[in-house]
Amino acid sequence: MLRIPVTLILLFFLSAQTLRAQEEIDRSLPEFSFDRLDLAGEMHFLASDFLAGRRTGAVGNEIAAEYIAAQLRGFGYKPINSADSSFFQTVPLRRVQPPESAHVTIGGSEFDLSGDLLMVRGPEASADASVVFANYGWVDPETDHDDYANLDVEGKIVVTRAGLPGDPGQQAVFRGIQEKAEMAAAAGAVALFEIYSLPFPWNAFRNYLGGERLSISAGESATIPYGFIKFSDDAVKRLQTAEGDTEGSVASTGMRIDRMDSRNVGGVLRGSDPALQDEYLLMTAHFDHVGVGKQGGGYFSDADSIFNGARDNAIGTISLLAAARAFAEKPPRRSVIVLAVTGEEMGLLGSKYYADNPLIPLEQTVFNFNTDGGGYNDTTAISLIGSNRTGIDEQVEKAAAAFGKRVIMDPAPEQGLFDRSDNVSFAAMGVPALSFTPGFDDFDDEILKYYHQVTDNPETINMQYLKEYCQIFTLAARLIANRDVVPFWNEGDKYEAAGQSLYGTGK
Ligand SMILES: [Zn+2]
Repeated sequence: MLRIPVTLILLFFLSAQTLRAQEEIDRSLPEFSFDRLDLAGEMHFLASDFLAGRRTGAVGNEIAAEYIAAQLRGFGYKPINSADSSFFQTVPLRRVQPPESAHVTIGGSEFDLSGDLLMVRGPEASADASVVFANYGWVDPETDHDDYANLDVEGKIVVTRAGLPGDPGQQAVFRGIQEKAEMAAAAGAVALFEIYSLPFPWNAFRNYLGGERLSISAGESATIPYGFIKFSDDAVKRLQTAEGDTEGSVASTGMRIDRMDSRNVGGVLRGSDPALQDEYLLMTAHFDHVGVGKQGGGYFSDADSIFNGARDNAIGTISLLAAARAFAEKPPRRSVIVLAVTGEEMGLLGSKYYADNPLIPLEQTVFNFNTDGGGYNDTTAISLIGSNRTGIDEQVEKAAAAFGKRVIMDPAPEQGLFDRSDNVSFAAMGVPALSFTPGFDDFDDEILKYYHQVTDNPETINMQYLKEYCQIFTLAARLIANRDVVPFWNEGDKYEAAGQSLYGTGK
């Protein structure tokens, strides 16, 4: 009897399966004939020096917005804003410029902006006051935690540890920045300073937080002078163990707050299947970047001070427009919202504003497919941030395979990337959401060479890879929009409950 090795039989079935999977995809779809030169042209425009890093609130950002709107209009999309028949959603913002000068004394030590003092906010102030250590300076009614409970801080300068009770990590520090000053002000303090203790260099932290800050208009307000001090270890010990009052003072001038607007840009395309047209796939990319010179937060020189943002996120914006163009030519079954958001670099502001003020009801928005990235170091792959959570991995793998690429699932988990991109604004509302990004496996030197650097220029982009990235993004989005069943959060996911309440149970 002829015996065929089992592995051979397996191989036969496997390759037949791969073939079938590829056969199902119609290679006459527009994404199979994307033009590398078209996409390269768009890259050289969006990441041009003349758009000056597309900073939220600056003219380069507005020009990019106008360009995206003009493209959507040209593709035949319906304006997303039915109130004024425009492709724009105005995002009202508040801009806080940190103080020009500040001086703090604590006990015998003096701190200045040029040294160990960072002011995050600093309304005009001048006070001599005693200094009190208030542990984390945290109040949480739900757990009955109140660091001010047995402490008199009325009229005093409060010093706290950075972070949240039991959690001195980066995320906790940033959450504290949003909320602690208000807690201290509510307890009667005249100023709050946190003890800097994060493991990265003080200067990097100071550059990151010491510049202009934007928030959605209704958000953060200026209450009391607030910042960080890099204390020596003994100074901290002296404060914590002080008996009686430590004398101190705080003076700060020159903080400015003003209102400004920026704009999200969007268009809508009807799906081809009458039964599914009222369900929308929301595709997003942020088109803003960090600007020029000091605004950029990284190294710059006279020779090059423009943070062009070719990778971050001209690549994503171009892939969004490429998908929009392909869908206009051959619409998927479900309807599509194409949304380019502003303010991502300033704290996911545009996506947050849209999620709170959607122009198409969120309960009809079945999925958010975000395209965003800090760079790539593997052009044989694309990466997925948030894999194995919403059931769409199969569509992404199929799309990647159709263009001969593989998928890297959730690279660099220590970076917490899911929570650092616009997808999280929609996830928080319950919409299944994730980010599609260029291929990378780690934040290595190849990524850091360009990530938020003036070197992130169009000339350094592999345009062939840009094309393939756009093709895979488009096909993956199409396959998701064409699914028989809408995606949903896996059982037990952090956002499952939000999804159930958004769509009603039984979905
Ligand atoms: Zn960025």
